[in-house]
Amino acid sequence: MSTGEAIANPRFFREDQATLARASRKLSRAAKGSKEREKKRNIVARIHERIGNRRKNFIEQEASKLVVRFGLLAIEALVVGTLVKKTHLSKSDCRCLVVDVLHPSSRAKAEEAGRQVVRVNPAYTSQTCSACGHRQPMPLSVRVYECSHCGLVIHRDHNGSRNILADALQACGRAG
Ligand SMILES: [Zn+2]
Repeated sequence: MSTGEAIANPRFFREDQATLARASRKLSRAAKGSKEREKKRNIVARIHERIGNRRKNFIEQEASKLVVRFGLLAIEALVVGTLVKKTHLSKSDCRCLVVDVLHPSSRAKAEEAGRQVVRVNPAYTSQTCSACGHRQPMPLSVRVYECSHCGLVIHRDHNGSRNILADALQACGRAG
């Protein structure tokens, strides 16, 4: 976030993934067409469902906290599909959470509470220095932005969110 805070990945994300991996291995070992395989398949399906529900609950809780705290929520107008395709991103990558917070139900909640939700163009939010405006390439593997122009050193997501906020304030005429 532009405040410098980050929402930590809940421990259960990893635990759930490990449980799923174990169940999937058991499923792949069960003989094709057997009753045993059917049983294992049901177990895997139930784990998938549980993961989906826990993830959704977590995101809704985090989104609600943001709605309570802030009058204006500035977010990147990201397309979920493109992020999902970047499979090298870990499942609990915080950028994914940012996208999920945009879920229509969260957005409706924010607007119901009288919050202003501003979506900004995601172009260059990671590459631009939030202190001096200089631009430099920022491959996803680089987690810290080190500005070669003004010397700012800042976590890439913190830098990106400061740019998102600045763009949003500009867009709704509240810059400065
Ligand atoms: Zn700079």
